[in-house]
Amino acid sequence: MPFALVDTLFLAAMVVELRMENRCAAGCMDLLKWGLMNASSNTPAAPIPGKAGAIHVDGHAYPGSVAIVGGGIVGLALAYRALDEWPGARIAVFEKETEVGQHQSGHNSNVLHCGLYYKPGSLKAQLAVEGIRAMVLFCQQHGVPYDRCGKLVVAVGENEVPRLRELEGRGKTNGLQGLRWLGPEAMREVEPYVRGVAALHVPEEGITDFPSVCRAMAASIRSRGGEVHTSAEVSSLTWRDGQWRLRASDREHSANFLFNCAGLHCDRVAALAGERRQTRIVPFRGEYYELNAEGAQLVKNLIYPVPDPRFPFLGVHFTRMIHGGVEAGPNAVLATAREGYSRRDVSLRDFADVISFSGFWRFLAKYPRMSAYEIYRSLSPAAFLHSLQRLVPALRREHLRPGGAGVRAQALTRTGALVQDFDYIQRPNALHLINAPSPGATASLAIARHLLRVVSGR
Ligand SMILES: Cc1cc2nc3c(=O)[nH]c(=O)nc-3n(C[C@H](O)[C@H](O)[C@H](O)COP(=O)(O)OP(=O)(O)OC[C@H]3O[C@@H](n4cnc5c(N)ncnc54)[C@H](O)[C@@H]3O)c2cc1C
Repeated sequence: MPFALVDTLFLAAMVVELRMENRCAAGCMDLLKWGLMNASSNTPAAPIPGKAGAIHVDGHAYPGSVAIVGGGIVGLALAYRALDEWPGARIAVFEKETEVGQHQSGHNSNVLHCGLYYKPGSLKAQLAVEGIRAMVLFCQQHGVPYDRCGKLVVAVGENEVPRLRELEGRGKTNGLQGLRWLGPEAMREVEPYVRGVAALHVPEEGITDFPSVCRAMAASIRSRGGEVHTSAEVSSLTWRDGQWRLRASDREHSANFLFNCAGLHCDRVAALAGERRQTRIVPFRGEYYELNAEGAQLVKNLIYPVPDPRFPFLGVHFTRMIHGGVEAGPNAVLATAREGYSRRDVSLRDFADVISFSGFWRFLAKYPRMSAYEIYRSLSPAAFLHSLQRLVPALRREHLRPGGAGVRAQALTRTGALVQDFDYIQRPNALHLINAPSPGATASLAIARHLLRVVSGR
């Protein structure tokens, strides 16, 4: 594309963005007057307003009624935990689909991550370790299948060894148990068909079935008096007389406190509640292949490459599935629709949202090769196969058949940086989870506990 055209698009994007911000800022004036907009992302807890609706226990206060937008695993985990930690509160989840867990929580790799990758001190590092323990316990208590089968992270060339050493260091700092550094012979005792110069064995990782986890959470919430409304798309949010008024599929509801766990739409739901969209959700589709029976013989459990630390994606890998079979993927290609599970899915609204955001152009300018390569690999089964053969050279084209796909809700900043950590905006009357990428499913119960404590000031 000629540079002049790129520049024009970029300038147009900046103008649209500024205009949208001004409009939103005007809409937020009422809230500003009440002093409700003075907190920033991840700021400490502020007192809950509207004493009328608050419940006070042991010097802590929590809201008497809570609306959670989004019936993915994080919204459900919040409701599940809130019923224990906030006794007496009315808890209601609003999910736009006919069933819970239909988007990211139902379209992912189903891997139980234990905290290997994450920067020590980050929220991901803190919550992944607690999260996997809580998720395993949940699976045990609710009869959801899981298997802590362990995984191998493989350095294919010498140039990847320093980064693998760095991961080992991070894993140890984050409190992982039983990490083992393996040479070429020892790694083949774990995965006989793998090739590499060194590998890290991570015994605590495993696999499960997150859609079943979501269904079990919804059943438990309902059985304990919580509400899970499906086919309930929240289309407006108004703060009036100390309460949120929600319109969800033509019905009015009210609550003292709002949790926004809307995943791929979290920035839009935040905007409905009067927030400025500081970061924008950019959808990255992850496409999978499935291995046929012969190909599946080449993989025992989980085989991962050493990831590129500049991106929050882990690289295409092999995953044994809990109900049988092996998947390979996912890649990370820019999607033209937030719920675009196939290359043919295009949403003009979603696409316009991406290209009207200056951060997107800055991201492209920073990572043009990676962005172009991901598109090429998405279109070329041979390129996808090549990435997989780096780890397992015996894999052949005829072992692969197209599998499913998922779309990641990835927050992007105006400077073009992919937000790596879990992130949220805290207000006295609301909390907006604006970035909950992998390992968000594994860590969902720990994320929930953390957010409830942040809100109640514990
Ligand atoms: C390809 C891929 C692979 C991944 N692999 C793993 C993995 O192996 N392990 C792991 O731990 N994590 C993994 N993740 C990350 C994990 O899936 C997410 O962190 C997690 O599912 C986020 O859950 P959520 O509830 O925030 O979002 P979601 O599951 O997307 O839920 C958000 C919900 O909000 C609803 N919603 C949106 N707008 C509205 C509205 N206006 N009104 C009502 N409802 C609304 C949506 O319908 C949706 O159900 C992966 C993600 C992807 C995409």
